[in-house]
Amino acid sequence: MTIALIESIAREIAECRACQLCESATRAVPGEGPADAAVMLIGEAPGAAEDISGRPFVGASGRLLDALLQRAGLDRSRVYIANLVKHRPPDNRDPTRAEIRSCQHFLTRQINAINPRVIVPLGRHAAKYWIPNVQIVRHHGQLYHVDDRLVVPMLHPAAALYQRSTLPLMEVDFERLGGYLRDGFPTVS
Ligand code: SF4
Repeated sequence: MTIALIESIAREIAECRACQLCESATRAVPGEGPADAAVMLIGEAPGAAEDISGRPFVGASGRLLDALLQRAGLDRSRVYIANLVKHRPPDNRDPTRAEIRSCQHFLTRQINAINPRVIVPLGRHAAKYWIPNVQIVRHHGQLYHVDDRLVVPMLHPAAALYQRSTLPLMEVDFERLGGYLRDGFPTVS
């Protein structure tokens, strides 16, 4: 049932023309992963490699994300990965607030269908979607409780590609997430 719902949402995304991002993108990138994933990772928007493949987090940042997931004891096949917006913004610019608003019903429906225990926003825009006042450089890796879900914002893997010094911070955050998943989450307010 959930798989059919996820596939139906993906078909709607593929046909969506609600904002201008679809005009310059090659194809939609709805997201992928098991319909019963306990962990959902949410990036900001597809990039060039994702736009061509139709899959989220492929290319260099995707390979780095895979390695970070391993540090958390997670395989990509066990998590659901999606983005705030489903079509690539031109020249990899940030998605606008209006574009995120236009697209957010898809993400909400994906989250409701999958019902993950933990949401991991990747990068500043995704983190602010759940925690408006978050400063990602200060609050990455911290645990929040939002709408009855655990939310752990992380630095975006792409950041480590041009600023290598951020990689150890990401590794620590993902290892801590793995510890939470293995041993239990501390109580959060
Ligand atoms: S980015 Fe989202 S709202 Fe905009 S056209 Fe694509 S699916 Fe529709």
